[in-house]
Amino acid sequence: MNTNALQILEEIGIQLDNGQFPCVHNGGIVMPSKAAISYNALGKEKSDAERQAKTRSTAGSRKRTARRQGASRRCREARDASPLINAKVRKNYLRDLKRVTKAYPAIKVWDTPTGLWLRAPAMPVQHSNREVTFLIFLPYPEGLPLKAWAFWSSIMGYTWIGPRHTNAPDGSICAFEPGDHSWQQGDKIVRLLDIFCVWAVRHLHLEKIGRWPGYQAVPHPYERLMEVQDNEYCGCDNAGRRYADCCKQDDLALGHESLRHDFEAKYGHSKVVPKVIKNFVEGSGPLPVICYPSF
Ligand SMILES: [Zn+2]
Repeated sequence: MNTNALQILEEIGIQLDNGQFPCVHNGGIVMPSKAAISYNALGKEKSDAERQAKTRSTAGSRKRTARRQGASRRCREARDASPLINAKVRKNYLRDLKRVTKAYPAIKVWDTPTGLWLRAPAMPVQHSNREVTFLIFLPYPEGLPLKAWAFWSSIMGYTWIGPRHTNAPDGSICAFEPGDHSWQQGDKIVRLLDIFCVWAVRHLHLEKIGRWPGYQAVPHPYERLMEVQDNEYCGCDNAGRRYADCCKQDDLALGHESLRHDFEAKYGHSKVVPKVIKNFVEGSGPLPVICYPSF
């Protein structure tokens, strides 16, 4: 990876560890929220993305406070949701589309009888040469949870982004806890896309630097043992402590095999992206139909 991209990634990681949410610019470009590193050094050529980022910077980028990252258990589907279409929700989303296409110019949208599908490519880290494609379904019926998947996309194809902070069993994105009000049904779509772009950056940080940056929610001890690095924030409710200094010894004492048994009984053995989703993203299948409560 380009050293400029790594530098940006490291800086964003430090900010997330400090509870600071980065800026998200047009096109889904994620940058540290203050100019802690010299951006004059970032590449000589001026890409469209850079110009967009600068325009966005002048206009004021979108900032938020970092929130705890949701884990699979907390993003489970609402099984008692009403199937009634909420006309106000649909109207809000459709009215929002102008703003969405301005912030994410390459987005494609499908208004279906049951919800809005969005396919949004983004390049969240400048110079990283990594494009992400989000496939998102925003249901119109009251109370139904959104569904979204993310893939690294290139001429070689589409690679699912997971398994960290995705839902079981369908591998969909789990970027926040439904109860923390980061985003709720009917909220601004750009805000949701921004949250997803930062989630993708966290994944890239995990891949390139070796740890998940920032607070996270990983409530099950088995999942913590299997996924959380010693120097990451612990995924328990005791925010602010590193895993090695928090729950790790207690988790180990519970026994790997009994924890695995309990985890798999509750959440299954693996996370797999449904074929209809993969096919659609790859251009070889029709727009998927999601049947709640289960896929
Ligand atoms: Zn802990």
